[in-house]
Amino acid sequence: MKIKQIQNNPFQENTYVIWDEVSMDAAIVDCGALFLQEEERIETFVNDNNLKVKYILNTHLHLDHCFGNAWAAEHYGVLPMAHEDDETLLARMGEQARMFGLPFEVKTEKLGGYLKDGDVLMLGNNEIKVIHTPGHSRGGLCFYIETEGWLLAGDSLFAGSIGRTDLEGGSYATLIKSIQERLMTLPEETVVYSGHGPYTTIGEEKKSNPFL
Ligand SMILES: [Zn+2]
Ligand SMILES: [Zn+2]
Repeated sequence: MKIKQIQNNPFQENTYVIWDEVSMDAAIVDCGALFLQEEERIETFVNDNNLKVKYILNTHLHLDHCFGNAWAAEHYGVLPMAHEDDETLLARMGEQARMFGLPFEVKTEKLGGYLKDGDVLMLGNNEIKVIHTPGHSRGGLCFYIETEGWLLAGDSLFAGSIGRTDLEGGSYATLIKSIQERLMTLPEETVVYSGHGPYTTIGEEKKSNPFL
């Protein structure tokens, strides 16, 4: 498999495109494209690599991670999937935008299906395993591609930090428990691709993350 990180929107959110090089089936994870040129950048990347977008996945439904869902859903003909416990956030995009002082309306897209802990999605012959890691939001998910040693961690875990827990549905104790029990138990060499900032590894965070 291959992975491409594309940074989007004023929150400097990391959108990821992951794909299987045999079938060219792809998933867009946390489509944060807000501006036209950000949509075009993703579109160009998908076209240039002859990818077939099979899934639009969300680690969670904070606005910076789903600005581009409506565009992507229309453009690729698939609806986004996320954890059911984050669905209520969709109805509150306007509220989220106002809270961050954003001077524009946010288009939302309904979910096409729910993801829950233990689900497995296929890209070609590759498995994407769904891990529920509540704490940053109630429905926070990580996507684990064990065969590649990749973890798409959303805003649960960052290089040297963890997600904020002061937003709706957040809980510090729950997030720490999620990270310790579900993420720190993965192989140390697992590469962690976070929703913001640079990539890291489970081993590095175990050693140096001041929150853990
Ligand atoms: Zn978030
Ligand atoms: Zn975020």
